Amino acid sequence: MTPMTGELCLNFISMRPLELPDDDFRRLAAEVVELSAEYLSTLDTRSTFPATSGVEAEKLFATEPPEHGLGAAAFATLRDVMDRGRAQNGRFFGYVQGPGEPIAALGDLFTSILNQNMTAWRSSPSGVTIERTVVRWLAEAVGCAGFSGTLTGGGSSANLMGLAMAREAKSPGNERGLWGAQPGVVYASEEVHMAVPKAVAMLGIGRNQLRYIPCDDAYCMLPAELERAIREDKAAGRTPMAVVASAGTVNTGAIDPLPAIAEIAHANKLWLHVDGAYGAIAAMAVPGKFQGLASVDSLSLDPHKWLYQPLDCGCLLYRDLDNARKTFMYTGSYAKQLSTDPIEGFAFFEESMELSRRCRALKLWLSLRYHGLESFRAAIHRDLNHAQRLASAVDASPMLERLAPVELSAVCFRHLANADASEPERNAFNLALLKRIIRRGKVYMSNAELKGRFCLRACIVNHMTKESDIDAIVPEVLQAARVVTAELR
Ligand SMILES: *Cc1c(COP(=O)(O)O)cnc(C)c1O
Repeated sequence: MTPMTGELCLNFISMRPLELPDDDFRRLAAEVVELSAEYLSTLDTRSTFPATSGVEAEKLFATEPPEHGLGAAAFATLRDVMDRGRAQNGRFFGYVQGPGEPIAALGDLFTSILNQNMTAWRSSPSGVTIERTVVRWLAEAVGCAGFSGTLTGGGSSANLMGLAMAREAKSPGNERGLWGAQPGVVYASEEVHMAVPKAVAMLGIGRNQLRYIPCDDAYCMLPAELERAIREDKAAGRTPMAVVASAGTVNTGAIDPLPAIAEIAHANKLWLHVDGAYGAIAAMAVPGKFQGLASVDSLSLDPHKWLYQPLDCGCLLYRDLDNARKTFMYTGSYAKQLSTDPIEGFAFFEESMELSRRCRALKLWLSLRYHGLESFRAAIHRDLNHAQRLASAVDASPMLERLAPVELSAVCFRHLANADASEPERNAFNLALLKRIIRRGKVYMSNAELKGRFCLRACIVNHMTKESDIDAIVPEVLQAARVVTAELR
């Protein structure tokens, strides 16, 4: 270790470790706000392809921790973090991801300053009240008024919690307070998101206890096949436990037939969880597409997807609070409630998975109050219209083939390569094409595989997208295809 200089020693005496004078905070915060504003105003001109290689990124950011603080100089690298990243602007159509709404980002900054813990009302009277409020707003917005719930890190943990509740409520042998030797069976469509098998495995239900139910041509679960699988399991002496329906599959945005599935789940006394991480929030704009949502037991949705919130903000809603408490209440003496007041004695940790949690609600509350529900509904409608516009452009292009109906805002299509290309040739061509499109940095798309066919997938949950951005997609795909074709010759 290097010995301290006299000056540093003096600083140590006069200042507490980690002390930050008010004026320094103001100056540095202003710098961050300035950089943020610069980013937002230049976002549209930035490339959707990372402006850095893996090696460059390591050189810049995989540094050793300094023994002595850099002070304000530490902030200088924020520009690199910004410039060397990848821009999620109005032409970013990958995954289920948009740019993030900036008012909410300001809420996030303030959240970290207040640093309140969402364990219980007593640890954050304002934050916990705001979280309970936005959970109610979300439930009402999607037609599930009266549901309780909690904000989560995302759809994955919301799905995990939903299935934990299903196991608590429906696992064979559970009436005796034990999960039986043989776990129950879970049903989901073959298009279900990977978060569901992961949750099934993590909960110890067992990978072989998950049935993948076949879909129709629109990638929706076939209720008759669900019924058949349940019947077969029962005949073999196994115990059906839960159905997971998708309200917006990640690949194509297909919505499983919720009323028919709910009827089957109900008749067989199964838990019905809906994975709405991608799509369910759109129920606030197009409720007709989501009939039956109010009849489910639990529902996951992701404000960080189709409510434009910065990461992270997921949500689990559930109908039966008692079951949530049975699943999640393991109160240790160190966490004992001191208040019996119905409001002040409230504890999130008795109704959800995590204990210490960031206040994800403040950004959402601020963003919803700033813009109003009407603006969010309008933004969702715009995304839906943009997806239809893209679908029409794809359909109008003889070299492109659309591979799925556009139920929500995901558009799956491929380039035919040439008129008599084989399926493996088309798959290889479209993989090369996607890589090329991404590299060119003008639009960003991800991929899906539908019935063995590799396709380009544009998912539009993006409040920055303009019609001209949508109109740029097909010409860009065709241009990139010409480049790929030329390279293959
Ligand atoms: C994104 C997604 C998930 C996972 O949610 P995270 O927020 O990424 O954890 C689960 N299901 C579907 C349908 C999704 O689109």
